[in-house]
Amino acid sequence: MSDDPLAPYRAKRDFSRTPEPEGTAPKRRKQKALRFVVQKHEATRLHYDFRLELGGVLKSWAVTRGPSLDPAEKRLAVEVEDHPLEYGGFEGVIAEGYGAGTVMLWDRGTWIPASDDPAADLAAGRLRFTLEGERLRGGWHLVRMRPRGEAKHNWLLVKDEDEEARPGDADALLKEAAVSVSTGRSMAEIAGRPAEAPRKAARAKPAAVKAEPAKAPRKRLPSSAEAMVAGVSLTHPDRVYWPAEAITKRDLAEYLEAVAPRLLPWIAGRPLSLLRAPDGITGETFFQRHAGRGTSKLITQVKPRGESAPLLQVDTPEGLIALAQFGALEIHPWPARSATVTRPDRMILDLDPAEDLGFDAVVAAALALRERVEALGLVPFCKTTGGKGLHVVVPVTGATWKALHDAAGRICKALEAEEPSRFTTESAKAVRSGRIFLDFQRNARGASAVAAWSPRARPGATVSMPLDWAEVAPGLDPRAFTIRTSPARLAAPDPWAGFEAAARDLPKG
Ligand code: ATP
Ligand code: MN
Repeated sequence: MSDDPLAPYRAKRDFSRTPEPEGTAPKRRKQKALRFVVQKHEATRLHYDFRLELGGVLKSWAVTRGPSLDPAEKRLAVEVEDHPLEYGGFEGVIAEGYGAGTVMLWDRGTWIPASDDPAADLAAGRLRFTLEGERLRGGWHLVRMRPRGEAKHNWLLVKDEDEEARPGDADALLKEAAVSVSTGRSMAEIAGRPAEAPRKAARAKPAAVKAEPAKAPRKRLPSSAEAMVAGVSLTHPDRVYWPAEAITKRDLAEYLEAVAPRLLPWIAGRPLSLLRAPDGITGETFFQRHAGRGTSKLITQVKPRGESAPLLQVDTPEGLIALAQFGALEIHPWPARSATVTRPDRMILDLDPAEDLGFDAVVAAALALRERVEALGLVPFCKTTGGKGLHVVVPVTGATWKALHDAAGRICKALEAEEPSRFTTESAKAVRSGRIFLDFQRNARGASAVAAWSPRARPGATVSMPLDWAEVAPGLDPRAFTIRTSPARLAAPDPWAGFEAAARDLPKG
């Protein structure tokens, strides 16, 4: 047996065939923070490789279901061979042989062991540490399970309960963070698979629409295939984003330009999560929070305190058009400003009806919440989500994330306690049947909710529409507010005009 901890790593690989780094000797770096990396690996089975720098190598675990920000989720982490430090920068395709598949740099940063002797902690099967990554932060622990004769050591990777935890989050982060932290590419883009599927809907609409080549999305068509909206040039303006409604990229850009006076105040100065659907709502969709290669200069990159990679922000009409160009069909701001990310200023109460409930039940729930919120001296506002439910939004001042989350939880749980047959705060599907799920988990750092006036990447091209409380009444039909119909509402006074001025301090305790 060799003493080289990387010998098993090398033995498994043929470096004349794989693009993975060979790694020389274990590297002892002096006085530097320890690195960590998470690589999403689409091998025989999709998993996330979790790696911590220690003793000059990357200690590694394969986390089958990926990490979760929910402290209740204990994720199986199978110990695998040490990897060389150079592996921490690897993203690409392993074409054949061991580990064949696509590797994405999913997270990276530094880690801080909780004790002075993490090697001893590892040997003892219990390691506590803090992650300072772009997606994973705060306290975590790895605990080795009792061996049951398996050759490999099975561990559990668990989030500690702290400010960075998102109880109830399950796999939300994995869905939200679908692109590389390094290059902003999706798995498909890293794999070099064509990002564009043939667009049947586009061909169904004659004359105006050109069929496009089903590959090389970065190649530009001749200028006849460009359009200008708000002074910003759009390529492929006739690309169809909502096929059933025949709504194109140009239509989206024109909608955003028209509603900019109402939409921009709602998102400006805040980090955004963007739901991208570059091939329209029937293609691949994914959330993006970080800048990537090719992010337009019209989209601002901000680095709020505590973030290690720039987040996206849009403050201008031109930025909105850039979003349309970018295939960002939904805009989801944080409930905090970039300059003051530790002080959220909006409480979001998300009402999700069980599938067997009609919309009037959601309306009744919003009215019940309104009463509770007003009883606390706060001022609630209501909007459609463009989906199945409603959002009750409350402007607040001076709150911390914890105070906001606590207050939102108290409001929703009080309603649940009062009428448990109508309301639940539990996310389990079985419990939700016949009830309205009052989701207060949006009130956490890094969480977002769809912007007022943002379209949804859903059938119908619906938008999230701010309402006057007088409109929140039986018969309200959220599907009435679409990209086509909504601009007509601009002529009427803004039902949310008093939003900023209505901010109040959260009640104590
Ligand atoms: P609906 O009325 O249909 O529930 P919604 O916008 O409330 O519409 P939800 O699925 O309840 O949709 O999600 C609530 C909010 O949580 C969304 O508006 C969105 O901002 C955020 N969200 C949900 N899923 C994700 C995700 N995978 N990544 C990032 N944010 C998400
Ligand atoms: Mn919802």
